[in-house]
Amino acid sequence: MLDAQQAAFRAEGPVSAETRRDRLQRVIDLLVKHNDALCEAMGADFGGRPALFSMMNDVLGSLGSLKHARDKFAEWLPDQPRPSVAPFDNFGATAWVRYQPKGVVGIIGTWNAPLFTLLSPLASVFAAGNRAVLKPSEVAPRTADVLARAVAEFFAPEELTVVTGGPEVAAEFTRQPWNHLVFTGSTAVGRQVMQAAAANLVPVTLELGGKSPVLIGESADIANAAERIAVGKALNSGQLCVAPDTVWVPAAKLEALVQGLQASYARQYPQIAGNADLTPVVNERHFARVESYVADAGARGSRVVMAGDWPSADGASERRMPLRLVIDPPADAEIAVHEIFGPALVLRGYASLADAVAQVNAGERPLALYYFGEDAEEQRWVLDHTLSGGVSINDVTMHPALHDAPFGGVGASGMGHYHGHEGFLEFSHARSVYRHGSHDPRLEWGMLPPYGEHFVQMIRGAVTP
Ligand code: NAD
Repeated sequence: MLDAQQAAFRAEGPVSAETRRDRLQRVIDLLVKHNDALCEAMGADFGGRPALFSMMNDVLGSLGSLKHARDKFAEWLPDQPRPSVAPFDNFGATAWVRYQPKGVVGIIGTWNAPLFTLLSPLASVFAAGNRAVLKPSEVAPRTADVLARAVAEFFAPEELTVVTGGPEVAAEFTRQPWNHLVFTGSTAVGRQVMQAAAANLVPVTLELGGKSPVLIGESADIANAAERIAVGKALNSGQLCVAPDTVWVPAAKLEALVQGLQASYARQYPQIAGNADLTPVVNERHFARVESYVADAGARGSRVVMAGDWPSADGASERRMPLRLVIDPPADAEIAVHEIFGPALVLRGYASLADAVAQVNAGERPLALYYFGEDAEEQRWVLDHTLSGGVSINDVTMHPALHDAPFGGVGASGMGHYHGHEGFLEFSHARSVYRHGSHDPRLEWGMLPPYGEHFVQMIRGAVTP
């Protein structure tokens, strides 16, 4: 597939604006045509994920990126003139940067947002004029199959195609000499992907995860913060790369936060078992993983508070889980070490915000960071003293929805980004071009060997502070 795509890419020559627009439009069209089948497949893969959520997160989320790219990329295409080199610029030498497609991009996606993690980066990849091969997650196999069939209906395999399979296929995929590789997934697998890509010097965009912190300042409205956190944490039952993971709150306000989270969660989900609005945990393995994190914290003496009813016995098999709040677990508890990626939240009371920030900064750089508060000075201080992929202020999980701003991580949460102009740049090669002018003055100005004293003085005179 890669060979066929690279051959077609070479044969194609420059990729016209019409071709790019047409490719973006066909992805939009396939989503519009097959959105019900895709949402049904996502529902089945999760064992009951609400179609409405799949529609919002994966269909509309992807459509947003694709339409933005379709409507904006023409502004990003033109060559950019740059200052030329003195003294040749006096004789008409010019310079510019042109943005050329890299070629064929491999894109590996996750199960938690099985369409978005493939099609949102694809928007930037196609806008930049590339071809692509998609590798969906094996944990959402029905979605992968429906997507593969839909793509085959709208695209020749030399343009866009889908490879399905498990970790072995994925590992083999990362060993191919792509012109660029996009990987969305865990930090641990991201390390392996980068190692495999290094063998062929393939540039990588790594969209990884981590423990996204929420910092609640003294000036925050606790009821409002609780409401926004409960709403954001409930999305996909916390199985979101930017889901709040650990909440830092002034110690005196911790109880108010607990009560606010409980009230908001219970209002959204008056019951857990059989609730069609609540996304189940994707499979038994992840259900057991989240359970074990909470149980481990409980066994170490941490207070665990439930927000929402515990499902009935047969509810456990449907994998809908209430939100559990784990308060001040020890630093080496599993839930404090690993990305939670499910319906549980760590709450930590702090004595000073500076201490909380110091503890956040002692860990890996997160994908998202959230700040709640009305104190503009403190807000600026938090932005100045932390680093994360992106930030939402007085809300959670919102910044990935910005189609005209880069989405990506930093440090352990990834590298590179897609969305908007930055996404176009990520998958383009920025190629510098210098064009000689009408005249070369070097010989007559004594700038060529044998060098004279005049030229020596001229060069010496150019060494200025
Ligand atoms: P994962 O790392 O287990 O799997 C992701 C993909 O990697 C799958 O398609 C899988 O087939 C493939 N894979 C498995 N083994 C591989 C190997 N050895 N080499 C190459 N590929 C391999 O992640 P997951 O469980 O699907 O997703 C959860 C993680 O993804 C979380 O950490 C979450 O935060 C992160 N995530 C990040 C973003 C983002 O945009 N930054 C979005 C969604 C999820």
